[in-house]
Amino acid sequence: MTLLSDALSTPLGTSTALDLGPARALSCRECGHETPLAAEFACAECFGPLEIAYDFSDITRESIEAGPTSIWRYRDLLPVPRGVQDIPNTEPGLTRLIKADRLGAELGLRNLWIKDDTGNPTHSFKDRVVAVALAAARELGFSVLCCPSTGNLANAVAAAAARAGWDSVVLIPKSLEQAKVLTTAVYGGTLLAVDGNYDDVNRLATELAAEHEDWAFVNVNVRPYYAEGSKTLGYEVAEQLGWRLPEQIVIPVASGSQLTKVDKGFTEFGKLGLVEATPYKIFGAQATGCSPVAQAFSEGHDVIRPVRPDTIARSLAIGNPADGPYVLDAVRRTGGAVGHVSDEEVVEGIRLLARTEGVFAETAGGVTVATTKKLIAEGRIDPDAETVILITGDGLKTLDAVAGHVGPTATVPSTSRAVREALGNR
Ligand SMILES: *Cc1c(COP(=O)(O)O)cnc(C)c1O
Ligand SMILES: [Zn+2]
Repeated sequence: MTLLSDALSTPLGTSTALDLGPARALSCRECGHETPLAAEFACAECFGPLEIAYDFSDITRESIEAGPTSIWRYRDLLPVPRGVQDIPNTEPGLTRLIKADRLGAELGLRNLWIKDDTGNPTHSFKDRVVAVALAAARELGFSVLCCPSTGNLANAVAAAAARAGWDSVVLIPKSLEQAKVLTTAVYGGTLLAVDGNYDDVNRLATELAAEHEDWAFVNVNVRPYYAEGSKTLGYEVAEQLGWRLPEQIVIPVASGSQLTKVDKGFTEFGKLGLVEATPYKIFGAQATGCSPVAQAFSEGHDVIRPVRPDTIARSLAIGNPADGPYVLDAVRRTGGAVGHVSDEEVVEGIRLLARTEGVFAETAGGVTVATTKKLIAEGRIDPDAETVILITGDGLKTLDAVAGHVGPTATVPSTSRAVREALGNR
């Protein structure tokens, strides 16, 4: 407890001169207690997680459409300074939403869309959350950008810090894929490979955050700000569908933050009158080797039992997911479900998506595609309802997952006859 309360009392002050845009206060998700905007993440009353409360001004479709072609078009809905788009940053977001008729036909879905977040600066959705965390951290007085990471966050933090001219400290489990190590190290900054799994690394980060007052761990001591970045995925899906909500959406779950914030984004758009508040169902996707939320869902529990992750979907390998209970709330409230798939199915999912739509996703994408297939088979996803699946990371970072499964059709001498023979005389 000492560590937690140390981390709670920020020495950086809670100045009322902070410009965090429409953000009004931090509010406890459990007891509703409000506290001034600061670098805090747990409620002083009940230790529940804090999230951002807002006073939104009038926001119109036109004002959003006139904004930058990045997440900053939604800056009036985020806890960031008003001129945030003018500060050097990686400008993530506004990735493509594509109609996926060929994948839809394979899955038996009549109306399927892919939100392809591989198109971000470091090729995963983590650029969104890091950009918001950095903007808030700067305003809160921090000067070093840090994180514990399962890989994609490491890339995003190192790159965003480099672009902003900040030092970075990134902690990863030493078993991480080589590609994610190199694609972090290349940006400079400090990269520490820790002898332990992600949950060990996360614990270490919490300790370090309490010891270093100028270190902003994006997903620890500035987590309430960071988490809001995921709302932009929901905003974009709604805007790109022509200002309406989909009927179903399938989202991969690690800590569960992204899923709960896409839900929050949809709800806010409805409340602000930017879309009609039509009903939608949210589905969560996990790998069987790390499926604590899916297990709790299928057993009807409210409490998540932590697991020791063992899956190739390392970007989702969080055994003790902080937002797990809120994922269960969102999924149950909307009439969705949380499913899980084996590592074999993950690889099949990656290949199916690539073969049908020309999109190469990392293992998390394989989890999403394969879980979608399973939830259709189980009758939980309605094949006739408009469905969006979130592809959150790029396959080039997890080549190991497909390395033993795909390769050249044949290796041939350089003659057309050899080619004909190799192709069965076609
Ligand atoms: C981090 C991550 C997620 C899940 O994020 P949470 O908000 O922790 O649930 C999904 N996909 C990819 C590729 C990620 O890197
Ligand atoms: Zn509380």
